[in-house]
Amino acid sequence: MRDNLSASSRFDTEETGVELNCFPYSVQHDDEGVCLLVKIGPHRILLDCGMENISSLHKGLTKSARRGSSPLPADVVLLSHAHPDHARGVLALHKAFPLLPIYASEVTTKLLPLNWPEQNFKEIPQLCHALPLRSPIELQEGLVVELFPSGHLPGAVAILLTYTTEQRSYKVLYTGDFFLSNSRLVEGLRLEELRGLDVNVLIIEGTYGTSRHPHRRNQENQLAERINRAIAEYNSVLLPTPALGLGQELLMLLRSHHHFTGRDLDIWVDGTVAKGCDAYLELLPYLPPSVQNFARHQPLFWDERVRPRVRRLQPEQRVVVGNSPCIVLTDSTADLGEYCQANTGPWLILVPEKIDIKVNKQYLAPTTVESYLLAQHSDGPGTTQLIHNLRPQHVLFVHGSPAYLADLTSLEELQNRYHIHSPAANTLVELPIGDTFVQPAAPETNYEGELTELETVITITLPEAITEDPRWREFADTGLIEARWQGEEIVLRGLSQRELLNQSGDRYNLSDVDCCGTCRHQRGQRCWNPASPLYNFKVTLEGYCPAFERSSTTES
Ligand SMILES: [Zn+2]
Ligand SMILES: [Zn+2]
Repeated sequence: MRDNLSASSRFDTEETGVELNCFPYSVQHDDEGVCLLVKIGPHRILLDCGMENISSLHKGLTKSARRGSSPLPADVVLLSHAHPDHARGVLALHKAFPLLPIYASEVTTKLLPLNWPEQNFKEIPQLCHALPLRSPIELQEGLVVELFPSGHLPGAVAILLTYTTEQRSYKVLYTGDFFLSNSRLVEGLRLEELRGLDVNVLIIEGTYGTSRHPHRRNQENQLAERINRAIAEYNSVLLPTPALGLGQELLMLLRSHHHFTGRDLDIWVDGTVAKGCDAYLELLPYLPPSVQNFARHQPLFWDERVRPRVRRLQPEQRVVVGNSPCIVLTDSTADLGEYCQANTGPWLILVPEKIDIKVNKQYLAPTTVESYLLAQHSDGPGTTQLIHNLRPQHVLFVHGSPAYLADLTSLEELQNRYHIHSPAANTLVELPIGDTFVQPAAPETNYEGELTELETVITITLPEAITEDPRWREFADTGLIEARWQGEEIVLRGLSQRELLNQSGDRYNLSDVDCCGTCRHQRGQRCWNPASPLYNFKVTLEGYCPAFERSSTTES
């Protein structure tokens, strides 16, 4: 299967001559930020500027400066969202190159200043220009940009670049940070908006590698459960969090989860997390309708009246606030020892997974440190789902630990279909696009068939292409199938030789049979295997699909 999709046969040998490449100044393998220079034809587009130190952008300049007229590191800068790992270098960039145009979504332009709390923004009002969502804008001749909301954080967008020559178009999509699920304060990325865009190059984040996450509501409930238990045991709970995004999500969760609503409990918010809340309040018209509705009945964050109370913490209150059980949200960079004082009660410190937060083990008060998952990024199955929906020629992974990115790049379902790249910083990635590129087949094709009902015989006719799938042989092995209702649907299953031989025996002795009941991907009567046609469906335990893998616990 891999052979007929190999690089040589997938591309027409005749190159079009249009330069298309990506030079990553910084790829966020750790916490160094994202900064990518994409070249398409004559255009140089800088995607995000999350580097603390932008000196490497100057270096790139000396090499290309002799081209003369344009001593800028790029022609245009596009920001995916306002998080520091994507935007903290933008102010320095603007100061170094005041003529370099910088664009982002409207919400991002409003959140951006939180990256530099000490700055007076009246002095530099034109740092970043707002672009509308879902509207193609021709930024330069032949270069069109379009922004699509990507979940993750209010204002976060995926950026589509389209360069059109007389012969054809070239499309690059950069996801920025993305999240397919709805969270409390931002709606998820809408896959259907991106499907069918004919993207040639996809630059995608891989924060969670191939790991699979429980449903978001489960994550929320687990966290609420843990906090609830800690308070019941007379602990205070300390939640260090980045200024934007997670902190506000946590507050909304605490304000609306049944464990906490109406409870005589204080939630204190400290540092730039509080500033982040103020910034969100300015954005109310851009937040999901459910949030706007909530805000019509009670304040979104600051509330001394409705329980649990949510208040801003004053610096002098830090040392006393844990005298009785309460919840404190503070900066991920704060000194947590300031709260966990000798005279306060015990503390539970909860740190989010995959966010770099330094936590000491030594505090004056008795302290427990645990981690929790409240994901703001897509998990592995979401990542591959997005890729398969776009079917690009090239997939370029950034943003994630090298080990996690390696998990993604070694997935056969990706290697078989796309050119996969996971560059280190400062290594040029060439992205050749052939003239006559054959789109790789989508991994899960839906076959359209025909149903004929003749007296007592029903015939289902399916296109021959279905037999090209390697799984067909096993399915058609005996020529006999079993049909079974599953909700409103009928599931067809090929009967195997072994099953026919065992027909007389107990077919439902599950531990013996290859079926959903003994498959390691089935949990809670649901299929969790993205490679399975039953993925995400409720399954019956005696069901089966070709992606079956025996669970080790039922191994006989
Ligand atoms: Zn982010
Ligand atoms: Zn990020």
